[in-house]
Order: sequence, then C-alpha cells, then structure tokens
Amino acid sequence: MKPLRRCGRFCACSGIRFRNLSVISEAKPELLEVEKDVHVDPDFTRVSNLQYLLQLCAKTRSSVGGRACHAQMIRVGFEMDILTSNMLINMYSKCSLVDDARKKFNEMPVKSLVSWNTMIGALTQNVVEQEALILFIQMQREGTPFNEFTISSVLCECAFRCAILECMQLHAFSIKASVDSNCFVGTSLLHVYAKCSSMKDAGRIFQSMPETNAVTWSSMMAGYVQNGFHEEALLLFQNAQLMGFEQDAFMISSVVSACASLATLIEGKQVHAMSCKSGFDSNTYVTSSIIDMYAKCGCIKESYLIFQGVEVKSIVLWNAMISGFARHACALEAMILFEKMQQRGFFPDEVTYVSVLNACSHMGLHEEGQKYFDLMVKQHNLSPSVRHYSCMVDILGRAGRIQQAYDLIERMSFDATNSMWGSLLASCRIYGNIEFAEIAAKHLFEMEPNNAGNHILLANIYAANKKWEEVARTRKALREGDIRKERGTSWIEIKNKIHSFTVGERNHPQIEEIYAKLDSLIEELKKLNYKVDTNNDLHDVEESSKQMLLRHHSEKLAITFGLMCLPSNIPIRIMKNLRICGDCHEFMKLVSKFTSREIIVRDTNRFHHFKDGLCSCGGFW
Ligand code: ZN
Ligand code: ZN
Repeated sequence: MKPLRRCGRFCACSGIRFRNLSVISEAKPELLEVEKDVHVDPDFTRVSNLQYLLQLCAKTRSSVGGRACHAQMIRVGFEMDILTSNMLINMYSKCSLVDDARKKFNEMPVKSLVSWNTMIGALTQNVVEQEALILFIQMQREGTPFNEFTISSVLCECAFRCAILECMQLHAFSIKASVDSNCFVGTSLLHVYAKCSSMKDAGRIFQSMPETNAVTWSSMMAGYVQNGFHEEALLLFQNAQLMGFEQDAFMISSVVSACASLATLIEGKQVHAMSCKSGFDSNTYVTSSIIDMYAKCGCIKESYLIFQGVEVKSIVLWNAMISGFARHACALEAMILFEKMQQRGFFPDEVTYVSVLNACSHMGLHEEGQKYFDLMVKQHNLSPSVRHYSCMVDILGRAGRIQQAYDLIERMSFDATNSMWGSLLASCRIYGNIEFAEIAAKHLFEMEPNNAGNHILLANIYAANKKWEEVARTRKALREGDIRKERGTSWIEIKNKIHSFTVGERNHPQIEEIYAKLDSLIEELKKLNYKVDTNNDLHDVEESSKQMLLRHHSEKLAITFGLMCLPSNIPIRIMKNLRICGDCHEFMKLVSKFTSREIIVRDTNRFHHFKDGLCSCGGFW
C-alpha cells in the first residue's frame, strides 16, 4: 500500500468545494465521504473520483457541478487526458452547453474515434443544424476511420432535417464501410427514410436487416403510421408479437394511432388491454393516444372514462380530451374542460386552441370562436398559426360571415392554404354566395388542379342559383381536364373483419342481398317523406343515372350491411373517405329514426351521431 500523503497538491481533502454540488451530494453522498476521509492513493482516487463525478453531472445535467469538476481537472493537470476530455464533452453536451463542448473538442491535441463520436453525438442531441454532418466530413478529411455509432449519430441529425440526399450518401458510405448491416445503422437509416416519406426504401432496409431489435420494429411502425400506412403498421405489430419482441411505449402509441386512423375499435381495444397489462397505461403519450383512439372510433364516452381515471393529468391529456370532444361536436364539454384545465393550473397551448376553435366551428358558434381567438392572442400571448386562422375562416364562413372570413384571409401574414379556400367555398355553397365562391374556386383550381371536388362544388353553387350556363362550363372543364375524382368508399367493421364498399359496389359477396335490402329500406323511408335529392351531389353523369348513383352511395351500402349483420342493440359505426353528402345525411337521420338504431358516421371532416332522426352536427359539416 502506498503511504498516505496529506494535503499535498493531489490531496483529496484540499479538493473541490462541494457547495455547488448539492445535486451530486444528494445523488451519491458516499462520494463526499471519500473526498473527506480517504487519503489512500490520492492521484488515482482523485482523478477517478472526479471522472465519476463528471459522469454524474452529465447524468443529472448539473452544469455548475460539471464546471467545478472541469476546474479541478485543470488543477490536477488531467484536463488533456483523452478519457477525461471525452467525459467533459459529454457532460457539456448533456447540459446543452454545445459551445463549451466544441471548445473542449477543438483543444484536444489527440482525438480518438470516441472523441469524434461524442462530439457528433453532442451536436445531434442539441439539434445544431448540419454541424454533425460538417464534423463528419472534417473527420473524413483528417482520415479518422468512423464506425457504426458515428454513422447513426449523423443519420439522426439528418432525420431532424428530413435530409434525404445526405441520408443516401451516408447509406452509400455505410455500405462501403460494411456497417450497413449493423442494427443501429439500419435502424437509423430506415428512420430517416421513413421521416422523409420514402417508405419503399425504409421497407427495403427493414427487410434486409440480418439483425433487428425492438427499436427497429417500433421505428418502422412509427414510419408506417406517419405516412398513412396504417394497415401495414397493424400487421407489423402482429408480427412483432409473434417474434416475441418486447413492446415499448412508442410501439404501443404508434399502433394505437393506427387503430384510431382505421377506426378499428376491436383491435384498438385489444391494444388498450395489452397496454394496461404491461403497465404502459401510465405513460402519458400512450394514454393520450388511447383517448384519441376511442374518440376517433366514435366512443367518446370511453375516452372520457379513461381521461377521468388518470389522476395526474398532463397538458397532452387535456388536449387529447378537448380535441375528442371537438371532433364529436360536444362544444360545451370542450369549453368546460378548457376552463377546468386552467383551474388546475395548466395554460392552454396552440394545440388546445386549435381544438376549442374546432369545437366552435363544428357547432357554428362564431361569437365564442372569436372570443377564444382573441383570448389566445391577448391573454395567452400565443401567435396564431395557419391552423388557427383556418378554424377562424371556417367559423366565420359557416356563420354566413363570408366577407369577414375573406378579409381575415387577406389580412394574414402567410399564404392561405387550400383547406382555407376549400372551407370558404363550402360556406359559399351553404349561403349561395357566387361572388366569393368564384374567388375561392379560382385559387383552388390553381392550387389543386386535379381535384374534381372543387369543380363539383362550384358547379353545385351555380346549379343552386340556376346559373345553367356556368354549370355547363364547369362540367365541361371537369370532363376535359385531367381531373380525377376520388372514389367514394365507406367501410364497416363486423366480427373482426373490415368490409369496404365503393359507390355502386359489385364485388362484395353479399352484394345482391344488400341492394335488395337497401331498395326495400328506401321504399319504407319514402313513407317518412324521404326523397332522393339529386341537388345535393352533382356527379359528372347524366340526370337519369344520378338518382341511381345517389341511391348506391357507399355509406348507404355500408349502413345496410350493418343493419343486416349487427344485433339491434349496438350502434353502427361507419367510416367514409369523403365528406358525407346531403342526401346520405338525410337518409341516415331517417334510418336512425325508422330502425331506432344509433348510427355513427366518420367522414373526412368530423363525426355524425345519428339518433332518433337527428344528427349531432346540427347540419353543420
Ligand atoms: Zn351520399
Ligand atoms: Zn351530421
């Protein structure tokens, strides 16, 4: 054993002033004891203790403690040691002091691979745009070989910026260096490709990876969900379970989002049960996606039950619930929750305001909408984004204040989006305002030249105002241009299986039965004063076949099938890829009355709850 050396240059007791290190002393009190009492092998103990403290500072993000350690390292002359330097870079990075990390890195006379990796990681973690890539290039120029960690860090930075070109180059680099089959590199690559909406490339990488882990699967699932491939996400989740991969919170919330988008309530419920079993239901992101899922599947009561069950609610949860209420046109509930969250000490953020404004718009509450918009700007100091303006244009338009809506668009500091012009055009249809309809349509034709819906809407407005020449002109443009109309499709889930129907469907195995049942239903409803209203939907077809087409709109086929297959005590839930037309809306109201069934239709815009001959939307959609 080395003799004890007291109070020399390296003696521990002369050491660090711990006053500033309360975080550390709480975390690791025995370290202080070491510092005070032990005087064995001081050089070694000193440096290794300091290194240990540095790591602790990084972990607890204590910049004050970290700087104190740095000062001591200089004092004991160990500052330039490679290991210590790497630890210092890491500590500064974790404390978000990237400039200090960079300074330390630049000072190093000798860098090992780890130093480069730590520095690149620091730049990526702190989202310093492009810097990680620049450092990587510098590394190449200096001839330092890289490894799988270097590449994955730089790729992470590319993901933030959706830099697909750089990603492709790095992909090539990794193939050249034979690290492309590495699990980390593969996962990072597929993450960037998915983020840049290049799902084919992401899928190819996923397929070719010799080794995958739970993160790989969960990244792939998130990619599918973000890019709208919900069925694929569900399938992947099933496979991940079969392969025995452990679920993580990301995976669960991705798959719940997929269920929400597909409105597959049965799968959604299963994943919900799974998340409870594995304890993820306490994760705020998982819970909020479950609340959202039930709301999107038309079960707003279940959403609220889950929301109520959470003791400590985060802003994410409040927002999810308010948005759920808004979606279901429960404007009053949304507003009450908006007040309640503030009573509990949460400030509404941009997301909250989008939801309350949406609630106002769905119920045609323009005064309340304006009130919230002003509150947001004046009281909560939030600057309204495109989404908020979009809601306001909708609110004013639906209330018939079309001039005001147009003025708002003109006043905005950014360009109007197609959805804004779309909602203005839709409002013009309700109020028969040709002047603004033409303005909105002109913008829309420029922005989305191939969208037939805009032409049809404009033609509808002309037709309603008996401007037959203009109707003919619009229809001609529709016929001659390269304009596609999205085919109306509705789907319904029965006994774990999704049945989809297109307008005039012929392929469903029970289609003959469905048409027969629908025809007899229409005859029954005619006794309740139902008329097939051809004014509601102007297809680009001749008048004679128009009635036939309207009769066979996809949602009518889906509801008929639902009536045939589902027991009478459960609500029928239908999804549609387009806005529900006026005729089908009327039809659903009457069916709900005639059959005493609850019908829930989710179209592109919102939910319609039909019950006893009424709809929750009150005619606003
Ligand atoms: Zn219809
Ligand atoms: Zn409705």
